[in-house]
Amino acid sequence: MSSVYVHFPWCLAKCPYCDFVSYAATPASIDHEGYADAVVRELEARAFALESSADVRPLETVTSVFFGGGTPSLWDPAALGRVLAAIEARLAVAARPELEVTVECNPTSLDADRARALADVGVNRLSVGTQSLRADQLAFLGRLHDVAGARRSVEAAISAGVRVSTDLIFGLHGQSPADAAAQATELASLGLSHLSCYQLTIEPGTQFGARHKRGLLPVALDEDVASAFLAVHDALADAGLEHYEISNFAKPGERARHNVAYWRGEPYVGLGCAAVGFARRVPDADGAARGVRWKNETGPERYVEATRAVSRVRVGEGDGLSEGAEELAADALLRERIMLGLRMRDGIDLDAAGAELGVDPWTEERARAVESLAARGRIERRAGWIGVPAGAWLFTDDTAARLF
Ligand code: SF4
Repeated sequence: MSSVYVHFPWCLAKCPYCDFVSYAATPASIDHEGYADAVVRELEARAFALESSADVRPLETVTSVFFGGGTPSLWDPAALGRVLAAIEARLAVAARPELEVTVECNPTSLDADRARALADVGVNRLSVGTQSLRADQLAFLGRLHDVAGARRSVEAAISAGVRVSTDLIFGLHGQSPADAAAQATELASLGLSHLSCYQLTIEPGTQFGARHKRGLLPVALDEDVASAFLAVHDALADAGLEHYEISNFAKPGERARHNVAYWRGEPYVGLGCAAVGFARRVPDADGAARGVRWKNETGPERYVEATRAVSRVRVGEGDGLSEGAEELAADALLRERIMLGLRMRDGIDLDAAGAELGVDPWTEERARAVESLAARGRIERRAGWIGVPAGAWLFTDDTAARLF
């Protein structure tokens, strides 16, 4: 299966912790139709390239379209709907309800009318960036909405009759594990089918990163963050949400198809300024898999201009739309599968991944590492399958790194 990601690069303001490609803008200053035109031009060029490149495997049925950002709920719904319709017309797309169409929203740009308008153009899942239900935490995070606005936006999304997810950030300085758990419980009680709960991370290149470097940002202790992670896990288990990936919880059957496809290494077409895409190349002469990942121009004007200049693109470096591209050999693809697969409760079937990618996943070094990690309770192994037990999820990044 394949998916499509469309990046919308504008927000009402830049949050101090955010390292996504997003630019502050007012809705009136954004060229909604012009950006949609550019994305549709890129779609046509990318589709042509993917179909006509002899060294790229054909795109399989698209089961997810994800509008991310940025804040795509700022995009005029008719313009967003035009892009969605173009994707459905140009690519082989699954029929609804198999097709998951998600739009990321912020409470400041989502009311009942906007949610209904998005549902009317074919969106069937809304992901709302509530982040917190505490006024002091929202202020610290630089969010523009208040607590009542967070609740109202989730209720508006639910009222549109679509699947709804929301985000919660935990691990803030001074926050107790009980507070993180209480917020997760309250959000779940609003009737959501999915929750993403992220630990606050301080990224270089952000306002928080700069303040942290100067010793001016209060940060939580690692052990408090770990306790909050476990408290959220317990609270959402009580609320009937499965902890299916380190940062994600879902009611049965409500996992985010888009994210799962990404974690499983499925191909995706990235469209829009700063979007990343990934395609599988045909295997090499020895039968080993290959892939290519590209990243589009990060400046909106440069991106729109590039789509005007290019009518046909190739897949990979020098396609005329990307800042760059990376060719990935089978070993690199396997390492990515391990890193992302271990984040999921389902773990990863290394035998199957190795067979699909045409490499032996059980190198002597990796087999030894698995044995040692299993002895320390960091990993479970059943025949060719490995996974991280819930109690060891906090160490997943380190565990994955040891299996590279
Ligand atoms: S709203 Fe989201 S994408 Fe926009 S700046 Fe804030 S965190 Fe980043």
